[in-house]
Amino acid sequence: MSNEWNALSKAVEMLDEEEREKVKLYLYSLKKMAEDNVEGQKSFMTDLYNLRALFFKAGELMRNHPERKHALIQMDIDNFKSFNEFCGRDGGDLLLQSIADAMRGLEREDRVLCHFRADVFEIFTSFESEEELVDITKYLTSKIAQVKLPCKAFPSFGIYVAEDPGVPVSFMKDYADMAMRTIKGKFYSNYAFFDEEMRTSMLKEKQIENQAVEALEKGQFQVYIQPKVNMETGAIIGGEALIRWKHPEYGMISPMDFIPVIEKDGFIINVDVYVWNEVFKMLGRRQAAGKKVVPISVNISRLHAHQDDMVKCIRGMGTQYGVSPEMVGLEVTESGFSNNTTVLFERMQQLRDFGFPVHMDDFGKGHSTLTMLKNEPVDVIKLDRDFLRQIENAKNQVVVKNTIGMLNALDVHVIAEGVETQEQADFLIQCGCYDAQGFYYYRPMPMGEFEALLDEEQAKSGHVVKSI
Ligand code: C2E
Ligand code: CA
Ligand code: CA
Repeated sequence: MSNEWNALSKAVEMLDEEEREKVKLYLYSLKKMAEDNVEGQKSFMTDLYNLRALFFKAGELMRNHPERKHALIQMDIDNFKSFNEFCGRDGGDLLLQSIADAMRGLEREDRVLCHFRADVFEIFTSFESEEELVDITKYLTSKIAQVKLPCKAFPSFGIYVAEDPGVPVSFMKDYADMAMRTIKGKFYSNYAFFDEEMRTSMLKEKQIENQAVEALEKGQFQVYIQPKVNMETGAIIGGEALIRWKHPEYGMISPMDFIPVIEKDGFIINVDVYVWNEVFKMLGRRQAAGKKVVPISVNISRLHAHQDDMVKCIRGMGTQYGVSPEMVGLEVTESGFSNNTTVLFERMQQLRDFGFPVHMDDFGKGHSTLTMLKNEPVDVIKLDRDFLRQIENAKNQVVVKNTIGMLNALDVHVIAEGVETQEQADFLIQCGCYDAQGFYYYRPMPMGEFEALLDEEQAKSGHVVKSI
């Protein structure tokens, strides 16, 4: 189509101006009509219905046949992007067309077959038993396995069974999509039905999204601190501030559950700023009272790459509470350094120039490239908990030992995260890593408890820090 369109456009260029304008206008209106038609009905590539047509046709079927049971199956191809890269665009197109052909084999009066976009397909159907729906997934899986291409494609399916005939088809699609996402990466099955558990977690996610702003205002977010220790002496050498949400209904919600949600709408920025402020305030208050202080690190979400005033904000808190920069470490995850976040990278560099130590968090969890370290503005590397898993395995020991050796040689301070046993601690000390943060020593605790711990240490040592 686009080739023909180009050829036509070229031919038109050869006409005189007035004719050209007329023909151009005519061709444009024809093209628009064709586009509207395709847009309104069929996918251009596969000739299956598009989403708008699916919503309309499936809605009609549900209204006209309330006595039938209806379901929507959504399918996509795992890692379709890599498939396309490996097999080329033509290979990808061939696969999509083969899927569409296979789907046509399922055509029935009570079904709507849809190509939503890229590698995502939808099948709306009536059914008697859930087995029939599973059979559809099996049929398509076997058809896709038969497509002759240099790399294999693996589909995933999400199935939503309509509970009442009034449910909008767009909702059915969202639920099927959610079910489909839960099956990704599982090797024992390639389909999942939307169930109660998914509904509950979806509702919870929605609630988190809706309630986070109010929760911050109402003081439901609290800053906990997990001490960092010197493993040889047991002395507290610092701490990491970690956020907690004490929800009136759900109790304590883990940051693992709510941070991904508030990252989506950017609210994590406000939560981070709240944490930073609490940390600076506490350090300033203790310093002023001549009490013992240790450096506390705070987490910096990747989203701060989009906050122009981030550097000013952190520096401003230091000035406001009279806290010197070396007392507040800034933790950025490894991926925060490597993904298109040159802006964040520059901001961290600026803050480092002002004296704030920069910590690379979760080192070894993602795709750390050791060469990356040469160029990064980091003072501290936090070895991820994954690093310590199975250190009884000889090969893992070699990796841990040499990584620590290399980091020491590069003159970066190494802190091991997630130390849970004496054996792990002994091994790390042997490798030249002396500082750690882990449940073996302390769990994250409310800020007040952490302060009490510092007071206790101070009382024991008689150590007094001069107020600034
Ligand atoms: P993180 O920055 O890697 O923080 C360390 C996490 O490891 C904490 O989980 C801590 O409780 C846990 N941990 C420490 N020692 C051990 C151990 O020995 N065993 C095990 N199993 N876990 C250990 P937490 O508090 O649940 O936080 C999870 C993640 O949430 C943090 O990982 C961080 O990425 C994020 N997070 C927490 N607070 C904040 C915050 O204020 N701002 C931002 N942006 N992210 C935060
Ligand atoms: Ca951290
Ligand atoms: Ca970490």
